[in-house]
Amino acid sequence: MLRTHTCGELRVQDVGKKVILAGWIDRIRDLGGVKFIMLRDRYGLTQVVLSFENQIDLRRESVVQVEGTVRERPKETVNRELATGEIEVLAEKITVFSSPLKDLPFYPGESKLPSEDVRLKYRYIDLRRKEAMDRIIMRHKVTQAVRTYLSSQGFVEVETPFLTKSTPEGARDFLVPSRLKPGTFYALPQSPQLFKQLLMISGLDRYFQIVRCFRDEDLRADRQPEFTQIDIEMSFNTREDVLHATENMLKYVFKQVLEVELPEKLDYLTYDYCMNTYGSDKPDRRIGMEFKDLSHCFKDSQYQLISNALAQKDVIKGFKVEDFSEKMTRKLVDELDEIAKSLGLGGILWFAFHDNSLRGSALKHLEKNYREVIENLQMKQKDVCIIAVGKSNNVNSVLGEIRKILGERFFSHLKTGFDVFWVIDFPMFEYSEEENRFVAQHHPFTMPNLEDFEKYKDTDLSKIRAQSYDIVINGFEVGSGSVRIHNAELQKEVFKLMQLSEEEIKIKFGFLLEAFQYGAPPHGGIALGLDRLVAIICDVSSIRDVIAFPKTSSGVCPLTGAPDIVTERQLKELKIKLGGD
Ligand code: ASP
Repeated sequence: MLRTHTCGELRVQDVGKKVILAGWIDRIRDLGGVKFIMLRDRYGLTQVVLSFENQIDLRRESVVQVEGTVRERPKETVNRELATGEIEVLAEKITVFSSPLKDLPFYPGESKLPSEDVRLKYRYIDLRRKEAMDRIIMRHKVTQAVRTYLSSQGFVEVETPFLTKSTPEGARDFLVPSRLKPGTFYALPQSPQLFKQLLMISGLDRYFQIVRCFRDEDLRADRQPEFTQIDIEMSFNTREDVLHATENMLKYVFKQVLEVELPEKLDYLTYDYCMNTYGSDKPDRRIGMEFKDLSHCFKDSQYQLISNALAQKDVIKGFKVEDFSEKMTRKLVDELDEIAKSLGLGGILWFAFHDNSLRGSALKHLEKNYREVIENLQMKQKDVCIIAVGKSNNVNSVLGEIRKILGERFFSHLKTGFDVFWVIDFPMFEYSEEENRFVAQHHPFTMPNLEDFEKYKDTDLSKIRAQSYDIVINGFEVGSGSVRIHNAELQKEVFKLMQLSEEEIKIKFGFLLEAFQYGAPPHGGIALGLDRLVAIICDVSSIRDVIAFPKTSSGVCPLTGAPDIVTERQLKELKIKLGGD
């Protein structure tokens, strides 16, 4: 090696040693005659003292090798913030490996960072920052722990093709034209779903893969067109077996990489419970604010809005926000009213309880009822109650959105630690207004709850529950999966309920249905989003921070310039003609 130690390694015990360090010059202080250099590599920083006359031009971010002797720093110059802060290296020789030819777009050693676009264009400089690099290293530790744990449980890692056929996970496919069969296209996998099921049919009863998936979606704030899943599938198992395997893997990972013990038993909440209590199927429970049915507090109200609602069997629900009366300004109330309107209600009702008096909406008509609510929710001075009235779904989504916004804006201090739980019993189908038909809420290979299926398949698909599950961590859906259908007839029936024609079924899924005919075991699995999992572990909000070379939210790689145009010749080989607008 061109070094004997890293820049994060030397301590007082090393004083007197002859060492060779190599790295980037983070900072230079020139005191005339003596130069102090902070030498940096991914392990840390070490101060180097250059007291001999040297003719070499040293610049920030030059890559150098320093030979010298470790010495103790004078007491008054010890830097407690640096692991190597008690020592410095007195240089005897310095060799420059390479020196920047021009100023860098930004300097990793400076605390003021440029915009994310600039950092992504020069991601290799950005990654010189310890904080940025440490997240990539944490990602490695997580994948390492996942591999170790799953392998120890008999799971086998198998790679599945990238050049393949469409796998429906609800997004658009990325297509790759085939040169050898002009006019045909591969699709990049949205997930390895069908391959992992085929592996179960092969008898590989425990599969996993840390795998890239590709989904051509309109990129919302924190999506990436390519992202990584921890993909798992098992045979001859119940739903609980998959949940336990996943839970145990997560417990192992958190323990290994963070020294955090997750709870022994995770909660299992049904989808309906989550929607009714939090207005979300991935609530962050750390901020509290559970919804309560308050209809009974209003039952004798003459106020028309309320009496009409109760007559129509609408719901009246609300939640208390502790110690919030001063923050409940007119402006905020207007904003919350707007949210309610955008989600199909007329507005919200609210009141604040302060010095035993009330302030709020329709107080004249509802004070008596509000006082009942105070009793019912055991509200304290300065608490606020936010109430919505209407059809259950609308009420849940309005309160859910408000809860989320208040949580983000005012209660982020409560978001500490890890809230991990399962959501089960999702609806099997959801109605797509766009496509005018029912589509699978998870994916069409999910086993329905068979009792529901028999009961409602001819009458109301929305009432059929699926044998599917999500793992939620800190308000993010980190993984989802299901018990699968393993029988061709049932699979066909599900496709047909989704109004796929015989022809479509044959073209898209013929190979799967055929495989089911040759002996398929009961099986099920899950996929966890590795990027999100690592972001949560690193306590960062964007998954871009835990991806070495991420794309922007418009799907562009600022570093390479992808996607880009290609040459005429390449297009010709693929027999592709570009049409104008
Ligand atoms: N393939 C599914 C997904 O990508 C996960 C699963 O059902 O295992 O969401």
